[in-house]
Amino acid sequence: VTTIGILGGGQLGRMLSVAASRLGLRCHIYEPGAAPAADVAHDLTTATYEDETALRSFAASVDVVTYEFENVPTEALDLIERFAPIRPNRRALAVSQDRLTEKTFLNEIGLATAPFADVPDQAALAGAIAQIGTPSILKTRRMGYDGKGQVRITDPAQADWTGAPSVLEGFVDFTAEISVIVARGADGQVAAFDPGLNVHQGGILRTTTVPCGLPARVTTDAVLIAARIAAALDYVGVMGVELFVTPGGLIVNEIAPRVHNSGHWTQAGCTVDQFEQHIRAVAGLPLGDGKRYVDVVMENLIGADIARVPELLRAPDVQVHLYGKGEAREGRKMGHVNRITR
Ligand code: ATP
Ligand code: MG
Ligand code: MG
Repeated sequence: VTTIGILGGGQLGRMLSVAASRLGLRCHIYEPGAAPAADVAHDLTTATYEDETALRSFAASVDVVTYEFENVPTEALDLIERFAPIRPNRRALAVSQDRLTEKTFLNEIGLATAPFADVPDQAALAGAIAQIGTPSILKTRRMGYDGKGQVRITDPAQADWTGAPSVLEGFVDFTAEISVIVARGADGQVAAFDPGLNVHQGGILRTTTVPCGLPARVTTDAVLIAARIAAALDYVGVMGVELFVTPGGLIVNEIAPRVHNSGHWTQAGCTVDQFEQHIRAVAGLPLGDGKRYVDVVMENLIGADIARVPELLRAPDVQVHLYGKGEAREGRKMGHVNRITR
């Protein structure tokens, strides 16, 4: 493998391409939007997923295709696959693109999720609420991120509709949220990073802290769950697994078939960070071991937080990452910092 194709030119694609550069690999990024954060890449195509000519020449120019964003249309993947292997594989994408498929798969391999019900249309909502109860959360099956496409339901009589096929999830009364960033190589080798403690605000990840402060029986269980998911999907690459910690055990919230925001701390905490780990996995190189050398708090710079950059650049023990995005709109991830706390 000498050239890696990356679908999606946001900050994750950008950081993947930087990691690939360090290993002497080239990247070609394919991004349907305008002004992508990953314009630092070697080759960049900005065209829609419907543009077959652009897609074909992209796929023909690379040895393997990976992605930073899981909502790539099936037709585009069908075309790409004629030219280059897709890693992580199509099944991992299909399972995680759709919350209903995702939760069904997780239950099938014996893992706990929040109780859920399929809500294909608004008419099905009352029945789902009767089954799952309240409080509960209605989430669109596809395309949601940063808490978008979600409606919290406390009063069955006043339940809003998301506007698209959804699942209704029972509210989990968790004591903490953690995530595991796990990597699996083409040979089945698995390496996990330490589980991080995640704090969300308004549905958006605010901070990730490592170590997470939970007992080893919880963190070990979390890593084993992540490894089980990766093996069941015959996964190649880095995957993020979000979990709720409850007195009754761990509940899987969702999986991301890609590098994950809650794994950004690895840039300051490990010799091989999640981005390099993903590149290594999809390129068929040996994986890093995931060992953490320092304690880190990762904080996202969201919207107006960008004004804190001058001060953060002066602070000791702080690694600043900026995505080069234009306008600091509310709720937009503009960058992150990794603060070494010990
Ligand atoms: P991401 O940006 O992580 O992909 P998302 O839009 O897919 O976010 P979720 O991870 O489903 O959204 O939910 C966002 C946050 O909302 C969770 O991290 C958690 O804090 C809260 N949340 C989601 N589902 C539940 C639930 N069933 N019970 C309690 N809290 C929940
Ligand atoms: Mg999600
Ligand atoms: Mg999430």
